[in-house]
Amino acid sequence: RAKLEGPGTLCYEDASSGEAELQRFRLGFALRDALARGGLHVHYQPQVDLVSGKICAVEALVRWTTADGVEVSPAMLIAAAEECGLIGELGDWVLRTACSQLVRWHQLGFAGLRVAVNLSARQFSMPSLVTDIMRTLDEVGLEPRFLDLELTESVLMRDMEHAIECLSVLRRQGVRICLDDFGAGYSSLAYLQVLPIDVLKVDRSFMARVPEAANAAAIVDAIITMAHSLGMRVIAEGVEREVQCDFLSRHMCDEVQGYYVCKPVPAEAVTSLLRDGVGLQDHLLRFNRREP
Ligand code: C2E
Ligand code: MG
Ligand code: MG
Ligand code: MG
Repeated sequence: RAKLEGPGTLCYEDASSGEAELQRFRLGFALRDALARGGLHVHYQPQVDLVSGKICAVEALVRWTTADGVEVSPAMLIAAAEECGLIGELGDWVLRTACSQLVRWHQLGFAGLRVAVNLSARQFSMPSLVTDIMRTLDEVGLEPRFLDLELTESVLMRDMEHAIECLSVLRRQGVRICLDDFGAGYSSLAYLQVLPIDVLKVDRSFMARVPEAANAAAIVDAIITMAHSLGMRVIAEGVEREVQCDFLSRHMCDEVQGYYVCKPVPAEAVTSLLRDGVGLQDHLLRFNRREP
């Protein structure tokens, strides 16, 4: 049986593999129901531009609380959806929801705002991916240049040729390609030469040790320099403290995302943040960084 560990967390850790399989099957069943009846939500986490100090984008992060009140982590939700053949539907639902919300924000006057959407491995390997994305954008009336797609290294490494082809097409349409959790996987730097990537998102495992640990700080600094030399932008993930923000400003990082700015929150909360002009303006006054 699925067991509750802490407040509302579903845990399979000690389930035997047969039991785990059954759990995933039940989860898939519940997910189908949630997709049909509107039980899923999207939260948004701001990304702040370190030159303007303003919120320039939001990352869409899926949230699911089952009918019996259990909060399912996105990792588990995505795994279940992939296994049950629902990842296409789920992925399209998140994309559609996030893009429609962005259109609403644009209508409210937050004109340049962009949205970032994560793609899972199996979702990325679907042959209809590019047409599906372009159709959804068309249907909600969003220009591709306002969409960022986030993919991890491992997803791209699985089928390099497919990745290059898909990403090239999407990018030509104006979609921005972001390499998520950069530095966390086992991949080499070689693929950075061949993959069409616009943005590196530095994995938060590095950030956790910055600036105190000299080696982590050196790696983040090197990633920023390398990305800029390759014509890419850099977003630091998991920024939780002011000193980290200071470090990133000093080392010319482009954007920050993390609890220091804001946790992932519902759309209405983002609207308030945008209205109030919340960002890192005070921080930037101290650093006085200007457009290059
Ligand atoms: P991710 O794309 O790397 O997203 C960032 C994760 O870090 C989010 O976890 C976010 O809540 C968390 N985070 C943000 N700032 C901080 C911080 O300052 N400190 C710490 N400790 N954590 C922070 P979340 O929402 O639980 O999502 C986990 C992962 O699940 C995501 O990692 C992404 O890979 C995946 N995911 C979430 N939503 C979706 C989705 O709609 N589709 C797909 N395919 N994957 C999704
Ligand atoms: Mg992401
Ligand atoms: Mg990430
Ligand atoms: Mg992650």
